[in-house]
Amino acid sequence: MEDKLRPLYLSYFMGAGAGCNITADKPFRVKYGAKLRAAYKKTYEGKQLYWLRTELLAVAGNRCPSCGGARPVTLDHHLAQTPFPEFAIFPLNLVAMCGPCNQHKSASTGKTIATAFIHPYIDQIPTVSFFAPTVTRANGSYTVSFTFTPAAIPDAMLAGRMERQLKRVDFNKALLPEVGELLNELALRIEREIVQPNGGVIDQPLIEAYLHANADRIEEQHRVGFWQAIMSRALANEAGFCSGGYRDLLARSPT
Ligand SMILES: [Zn+2]
Repeated sequence: MEDKLRPLYLSYFMGAGAGCNITADKPFRVKYGAKLRAAYKKTYEGKQLYWLRTELLAVAGNRCPSCGGARPVTLDHHLAQTPFPEFAIFPLNLVAMCGPCNQHKSASTGKTIATAFIHPYIDQIPTVSFFAPTVTRANGSYTVSFTFTPAAIPDAMLAGRMERQLKRVDFNKALLPEVGELLNELALRIEREIVQPNGGVIDQPLIEAYLHANADRIEEQHRVGFWQAIMSRALANEAGFCSGGYRDLLARSPT
């Protein structure tokens, strides 16, 4: 069955490389659809095929491929089960995702190429930086938000899909807890690794260099343009933060 499904599935991704502007494979759907949908239920915890779920979640690691945040604990049917039951349990069609992203991507998403979510196994995202950061200092604390910059992506169709998806999953909201956590962590590390060893003196250029080096390390570990790296560089360019403003965050951190 897999030999038949694989070329069928990959054919969906020809052309614009996005897929989804297809009609369901009727003979397959009628013959096997119900059985395949029933088989998907066997990937739930405690069932026979639970191993498939755990393996697919392990592939994603600790990053939701949709919003860039953490905790991808669900599986999403990239091509939804209702029009495409033939892919109900096809591994290429099962994508790890965080709970909120999965909820935001309704079954109607992807009826055309233009509205298809990014397929993390198949779509090629160029390794460029496509977020512009905004650092805000208000009420004695910092926050960082991101704006998607479509012009950074050469493929206009891909850029449009990414823009639509990021808006749909409200990625700034999804990242908010992690942004806060990283801000606290960076402030603590600046204080302990840079300022305290320097006799408690805040050396602004030293802190800027530290944050730039941190961004380089993150990009080496994840990818060029990963939001954590962009955030670290944005803070490095924020004179107020590097000249002592980071200490706003220390009061909130357990020391
Ligand atoms: Zn997500």
